[in-house]
Amino acid sequence: MGCRACAIWDEGYLAYDFGEHPMNPVRLDLTVRLARDLGVLDRLEVIAPVPATEPQLLTVHGADYLDAVRTASSDPGFAGYGLGTDDDPVFPGMFDASALIAGGSALAARRLLDGAVEHAVNIAGGLHHAMRDYASGFCVFNDVVLAIRTLLDAGVERVAYVDVDVHHGDGVQAAFYDEPRVLTVSLHQDPRTLFPGTGMATEVGAGAAAGTSVNVALPPGTGDSGWLRAFDAVVPGVLRAFGPQVLVTQCGCDTHHEDPLANLALSVDGQREAIVRLHRLAHEIAGGRWLALGGGGYGVLRCVPRTWTHLLAEASGTAVPAQTAVPQAWIDHLRGRGVTQELPRFMGEGRLPFVEPWQPGGDSWLDRAVWATRREVFPLLGLDPDDPRD
Ligand SMILES: [Zn+2]
Ligand SMILES: [Zn+2]
Repeated sequence: MGCRACAIWDEGYLAYDFGEHPMNPVRLDLTVRLARDLGVLDRLEVIAPVPATEPQLLTVHGADYLDAVRTASSDPGFAGYGLGTDDDPVFPGMFDASALIAGGSALAARRLLDGAVEHAVNIAGGLHHAMRDYASGFCVFNDVVLAIRTLLDAGVERVAYVDVDVHHGDGVQAAFYDEPRVLTVSLHQDPRTLFPGTGMATEVGAGAAAGTSVNVALPPGTGDSGWLRAFDAVVPGVLRAFGPQVLVTQCGCDTHHEDPLANLALSVDGQREAIVRLHRLAHEIAGGRWLALGGGGYGVLRCVPRTWTHLLAEASGTAVPAQTAVPQAWIDHLRGRGVTQELPRFMGEGRLPFVEPWQPGGDSWLDRAVWATRREVFPLLGLDPDDPRD
């Protein structure tokens, strides 16, 4: 299946650099090198991002906050609005670097609206924690919210957002909590055990939008099979019920078992399966319109490059099989930079996730978490929480 897809990319993205920090832009550089070495980039149109303009950013953030980010860009001592913290230290050129990523996601949305492509990928995007008036969780401007607003402002009536990052997609949920045109779905590690502390099943949306915020709070330690079971028990059902015209996904890969910042236990194979499912759902329920963004992911050598190369390949319509060897050129590049750590030899980890379908009445923490989500939100969407076919 060849799909018409584009990737938004240029090296300007590497300027989003907090310095000594888990969110190291090398993860993007290594992803693009791996995708290029495997020929994946040849199957996509690669388009350079353009920075988001002030009016665009004002659809997402307050004017005072934009001024603060601008000031912080040239004042290393600046603190306030979530900036100058351990999570979001200030760096020179912060405004422009952040605006470029936001503009990239807006451009991806425009390409979909134009019908130029079916799928658009911005691996530098997915900065889902940024709030209207403050930076949070390594995120300065919320490119996801900008992309969704771009779609709505162009007349799209229903947008679904699925966030598979290990952290709750709090900034996106907050922006659309009372917006019935946007369904936000987030699967994440239980917020009682991880930043940002929100994303319980009881957060379902407000007013006319009740039922359009969906949260699945997964127990620490959840691996491929459990994670995919939860996904299958919630995501397809709510997406079909909502009937979006565009599917936006945040494909953070910090759910990996080696990720240094969180405690889920997915493999690259499980993450790849999640991407395959999202792609399939985009064709089934959104006419193929799929806007895929990056997000978290701090296993910069052994996880992010492989998983996001799978994302780019999947969007191109030609998947990279998990047993494909990692190209020697990519390994040599890292060795040439003095990296001595063990590097992956294959594009998967040799784990083929077996998924047992969810059934009501399961007593594990995971099954109860799935049940909590279904109980809270399924009736609001006209679905039966007890019927595993829903
Ligand atoms: Zn496709
Ligand atoms: Zn994350």
